[in-house]
Amino acid sequence: MPLDAPVLFKRVPTAPWGSANERIYVDYDDYVAQDGYAALDKAIGMSPEDIVAEVKAAELRGRGGAGFPAGMKWSFLPPPDGGQRFLAINADESEPATFKDQILIQYDPHSVIEGIAMCMLACQLDTAYFYIRGEYHHQREAFERAIAEAYDKGVFGENSRMGKVNDRAPNLYLHRGAGAYICGEETALIESLEGKRGWPRIKPPFPAVAGAFARPTIINNVETLANVPHVILHGADAWKGRGKGRPEGAPPQVPASFGTKLMGISGPVKRPGVYEEELGVKLTDVIERLGGGPLPGENIKAYFHGGISMGVISQEEAEQGVELDFDIGKKWNNLGLGTACITVIPERTSMVSMARNCARFYSHESCGQCTHCREGSNWIYKMLTRIEAGDGATKDLDMLLELATSMGSMPGHNICGLSDGTNWAIRTIVNKFFGEFEAAVSSKRTVSLV
Ligand code: SF4
Repeated sequence: MPLDAPVLFKRVPTAPWGSANERIYVDYDDYVAQDGYAALDKAIGMSPEDIVAEVKAAELRGRGGAGFPAGMKWSFLPPPDGGQRFLAINADESEPATFKDQILIQYDPHSVIEGIAMCMLACQLDTAYFYIRGEYHHQREAFERAIAEAYDKGVFGENSRMGKVNDRAPNLYLHRGAGAYICGEETALIESLEGKRGWPRIKPPFPAVAGAFARPTIINNVETLANVPHVILHGADAWKGRGKGRPEGAPPQVPASFGTKLMGISGPVKRPGVYEEELGVKLTDVIERLGGGPLPGENIKAYFHGGISMGVISQEEAEQGVELDFDIGKKWNNLGLGTACITVIPERTSMVSMARNCARFYSHESCGQCTHCREGSNWIYKMLTRIEAGDGATKDLDMLLELATSMGSMPGHNICGLSDGTNWAIRTIVNKFFGEFEAAVSSKRTVSLV
């Protein structure tokens, strides 16, 4: 199904992956036949500093949700000291309705593996752990097949074409998670990798200094690494030729939105799926042009544009021109771009029930270390359950907003961002759809379940 979309991951014959029946696993030979591993060969001829400098120049920002510049993260590593250094790849894709990385893992794994090898070269990391979500059974099988192919073809191991990295043979291992959302937080991921309970760590020290097994560790998202071969093969300028770039008139130090992004669409639209688009594309354009618009008889009320933790965007806001880039949070009162996997919320959905459903998720997934997060998420869930059942009072709404706000990222309150995610999800739903909550508490009626 050819769609007018810019495709960087063009080695996958069926991008943008609209139909599951058309998808094909791209093996090592297919990948090489389409310029695969040419970027790695180019990087082998470069110094580690030059690879990092090119990624920095491209202003490639993390595609996992936070948008932190990848090259800058890489430059935080201390110089090699003779000990082991690690790369942990975050494939614990657990944000609700987010499924972009699984497409790469399952169908185009060598684009990820090439990026992994290049990151290991650039940062002098000898051992990589691919931390994959426990529920991703098919993806795990496909990726293990690709890892075996990569060893067989001399990407990793004693006979690696990279030679010794950090004076050791470079190795890549797959590690399965056990189904906890919080293990997508990078320090919880490290704890889990070490065989411990997945509890986020207090920072500092940051993983670049003391990560896995107390050694320097870089943690990158799957999609971020899959972009690295393109940056090195075609250069930073080619990468920066796509996307929205920097806000007009902003100085160079202001973070920008360059390149493309995988975007998922789920909900009642004609063509749900994963698409690749330039950053800065309009939300309504993604839904109409790529997603085919709402199903017959459906009207759209709102969106989660990047996972529920980023907050909600109303259809009225979307029609005013919401653009999917890293500045979306500043303009439309939400946390940020997140994963850019969009959940379409139809008009028939009760936002009270939606909020209750989100609160249940956060209450269940809180690791329990921080009081605001542990108690607040459960308290909000109970209040929303009561409001949904028609037993709420007007004062509950003030309490709800106060409680959610108190869970925001105030320094020293919480160890990780889950609490802040609860805040943004609940506060934006209540604020932007306040009328529904007022009606629920004043009419004492029971609203429909999501
Ligand atoms: Fe755990 Fe929540 Fe604290 Fe994060 S904010 S460490 S999930 S209690």
